[in-house]
Amino acid sequence: MSLTRRSALAMTVAAGAAAAVLAGAFPGASAAPTPTAPTAQQSASYVYRVTGGVARAEALLREGFDVLEERQGGDLFVMGSAEVGARLRAGGHRASVEQVLPPVAWAPPARSGQAAVLDAAAAEETYAGGYRTVNAQYAHLDQVARDHAALATVVDYGDSWRKSRGSGGYDLKAICITKKNAGDCALSTAAPKPRLFVMGQLHAREITTGDVAYRWIDHLTDGYGSDSQVTTLLDTTEVWVVPIANPDGVDIVQRGGSYPYLQRKNANNGNGPSCGTTGGSSQVGIDLNRNTSSGYGTGSSTSPCSETYRGPSANSEVETKALQSLWRSLYRDRRGTGTGAAAPADTTGMVISMHSYSNMVLFPWGFNSAVKSGNDSSLRAIARQMASLAGGWRYGQPGEILYNAGGATDDWVYDDLGVSSFVWEIGNPSGNCSGFTPAYSCQTSLYWPKVKGMLLYAASKTARPYAG
Ligand SMILES: [Zn+2]
Repeated sequence: MSLTRRSALAMTVAAGAAAAVLAGAFPGASAAPTPTAPTAQQSASYVYRVTGGVARAEALLREGFDVLEERQGGDLFVMGSAEVGARLRAGGHRASVEQVLPPVAWAPPARSGQAAVLDAAAAEETYAGGYRTVNAQYAHLDQVARDHAALATVVDYGDSWRKSRGSGGYDLKAICITKKNAGDCALSTAAPKPRLFVMGQLHAREITTGDVAYRWIDHLTDGYGSDSQVTTLLDTTEVWVVPIANPDGVDIVQRGGSYPYLQRKNANNGNGPSCGTTGGSSQVGIDLNRNTSSGYGTGSSTSPCSETYRGPSANSEVETKALQSLWRSLYRDRRGTGTGAAAPADTTGMVISMHSYSNMVLFPWGFNSAVKSGNDSSLRAIARQMASLAGGWRYGQPGEILYNAGGATDDWVYDDLGVSSFVWEIGNPSGNCSGFTPAYSCQTSLYWPKVKGMLLYAASKTARPYAG
């Protein structure tokens, strides 16, 4: 009952937002795209519980369902509209409604693509109740580098798919934060300090992760000189942050405005131009966390409109290649070939890929949990501590607590370079503050305080993750 009432309220606010658009609240530079009144996400989304064992995951993925990164015993969870529920049952799956996710009300940003000038106005752009747009995140990076020139350097490490095609899009941007001395923040594997790399929104709709990245950047740059833990950290460690690894995808998400489109993938429509462009269960793009050459092909789909479409070939996407090139310019390769080869105890560095949701810490190998990495005991011990700091999250290889998935960036980082790598699935699996688009207040009250401790711990392990 209460769900019905909340939905009705959200719809009323939505109608107001749509009316504002029609009344010309977005005066219009002709270059700006026509703001789209919310449609696809205007009705509630559902989380379906699918019973019948974890072996069902491969079938569900093959059939194109949006299988969430969550598992309870043998039960899996699929997200989608009311129509998806009907399709699950028609396909012979035993599915029940686990949760109804009402839409969130907030005005949509007025523009798409990278702003010509990342000014103060760009820095204020938000959607869904306070989440920063891509332009706001990029304006923030520039502002931080201006305000803290001794600490921060912005690096443009490539172009998004749309930009690479000359059709809007964005630069791909990172920020390097440390107390800068000679050689720091250089694109060189000979840099003097160990490097912690933190990435958000590779999956565009996982909007909690971009917000965590934003706060982490501020925590470091504002805390240097006053917070002794931060000061020591930046004196000894380089911290790299990519707040939005998939800006084209986030552009689609924020275009939903009041009702963020649940776009997971990038915007490459070269393989299935008839897929939807509003983040529905048939959506355009390639899953950037199934596209790498490490374990490419398992736990993913060959169907272009699927949420887990792996792309036409391994490492096919410009966003994938740009990240790989950046990582290779930051980290020396310390690992031999073969899935069991260990990187040595004096290997430095760590990569955290932040995702949402379901309160889990994952580490390689993701493509097959029956295969243990050569650094399994160290990775597992660090994951256990991260999970403990988060208040008791689950941890393990993906296949141990979720399902096998190949082609992920975290597997690639460890596979190619031997660098320790982790995935955090930030967010309650159900109830308060769960879902891809939790109320913005959840970031302040719940997720930032929790993840801050995990990030500081990760930084403390970056110099010698395999030493103990
Ligand atoms: Zn994800």
